[in-house]
Amino acid sequence: MKRRNFTWVLLSALFLGSMSLTASAADRPNILFIFTDDHAPHAIGAYDGWLKDVNPTPEIDKLAAEGMLFQNSFCTNSICGPSRAVILTGKHSHLNGFMHNGNSFDSSQQTFPKLLQKAGYQTGIVGKWHLKSQPTGFDFWTVLPGQGSYYNPMMITPEGRKRFPGYCTDIVTDMAIDWLEEGRDPDKPFILMCQHKAPHRTWMPAPRHLTLYDDMTMPEPKTLFDDYADNASPARYQELEIDRHMGLVYDLKMTPAEDFDASKVPGDKSGFKNLDDMTPEQRAEWDAAYGPKNEAFLKANLKGKDLVRWKYQRYAKDYLRCVKGVDENVGRLMAYLKETGLDKNTIVIYSSDQGFYIGDHGWYDKRWMYEESLKMPLIVKWPGVTKPGSVNQELVQNLDYAETFLDIAGAEIPSDMQGRSLVPLLKGKHPKNWRTAIYYHYYEYPSVHMVAQHNGIRTDRYKLINFYQFGEWEFYDLKVDPDELTNEYNNPEYADIVADLKEQLKSLEEKYKDDSDLSEKSEQWKKEVRASGDYH
Ligand code: CA
Repeated sequence: MKRRNFTWVLLSALFLGSMSLTASAADRPNILFIFTDDHAPHAIGAYDGWLKDVNPTPEIDKLAAEGMLFQNSFCTNSICGPSRAVILTGKHSHLNGFMHNGNSFDSSQQTFPKLLQKAGYQTGIVGKWHLKSQPTGFDFWTVLPGQGSYYNPMMITPEGRKRFPGYCTDIVTDMAIDWLEEGRDPDKPFILMCQHKAPHRTWMPAPRHLTLYDDMTMPEPKTLFDDYADNASPARYQELEIDRHMGLVYDLKMTPAEDFDASKVPGDKSGFKNLDDMTPEQRAEWDAAYGPKNEAFLKANLKGKDLVRWKYQRYAKDYLRCVKGVDENVGRLMAYLKETGLDKNTIVIYSSDQGFYIGDHGWYDKRWMYEESLKMPLIVKWPGVTKPGSVNQELVQNLDYAETFLDIAGAEIPSDMQGRSLVPLLKGKHPKNWRTAIYYHYYEYPSVHMVAQHNGIRTDRYKLINFYQFGEWEFYDLKVDPDELTNEYNNPEYADIVADLKEQLKSLEEKYKDDSDLSEKSEQWKKEVRASGDYH
């Protein structure tokens, strides 16, 4: 009996061994996952948004022309760290434990890189990590601490911290190419996550892009002067307006006065402090670019809407300059894959952790369930599989990425992951039982930017948002109101639809096991939390 068992084990081992040999690099595609921070779809030419004429992304557009673009791609929780944790785990924030940026990721839990390693993949990550704890499940990793810096960034490696000279987006790409060239085992398939800081606040462009767009006026979003009259009250108590909250020095590169105190600036200070880390040459180029523009601004002495318009122009240009740096580096990676022939068996994915307000509704930043920050770009080029130039309209989420990577690798998808593999969609199929609604939940409140907690549901046409702590709801018919300017929650014509969506929302809370406290807070609490505004 013992001997028979032994023989069976031996034969099985031989069989499985040969299986894994035959199913190695040649069969299983590599995955290059290019991921940015705060890159809104409407700042990508291929997404055909209101910034398309500026066209900051010819290289990403090329990727879309060669692959599949997902038009209805959404995050589950519109903020940096949580989006990343959802991608690693295939689970909503309340289950993976990283609900807001103050958390530290429990790196002992199941993640797709660990499962891919087991399936014979090499795993690598370079660039923005933003999950506090050290990366696990990666054969290769070099990450930025926290938000990281644009210029001469400090990076964390398994051997410790080290500063790298240059511009962050270029450095991260160099590291990705180095690993592809020399670091990896060429006999194994790989997934490489190339994750940029750009175009995150405080939008510091590369030296070569400091004067890009100087000769043009950016188109303005039509909601730049939104007064939130129709919204539930949380939209009027936020702190992410270009007008009232965007800083001239911290965000918009005005030369600080002698007595400028960076500690009085709300939010992360890394961007502003990064000026001190520049080399004298970098700083000279920076001052030469911004100095004359700053002088002209001071002379103009702008007020009211003119001042908002100027702030918007400076902000949008810097944001798009950072996007330009990303786009050029996407081009460099594509060129490298082509030169080496890796392009034939490498799936290239472009995505970003959430969308962003580029002056839409008068805002910058993200967090809300409104379209501009709910949407994530998602473009996938799978040679021989995705139809070039195809556009997919199904509702997909970052919740689906882990399952998709595992499916591509032929690995089993654990039953406790909550998303679905996108592989059938990438193959051009439209499964009849695909989801008809997505679930969203944002938790970081009270905190910087003061966006109230909310959860909600979005279908292909409607959106229902519950600002539960304040006992207020919003409902939008996106077909007639794509900019979400008319809250129809109390419109009797929509009463049946709203009631149905409430039921569906409850079902999604149950389906995804979200048992968060959704109760309304006391009037006293509401008053106090709002009085704590101007959050520092
Ligand atoms: Ca982000």
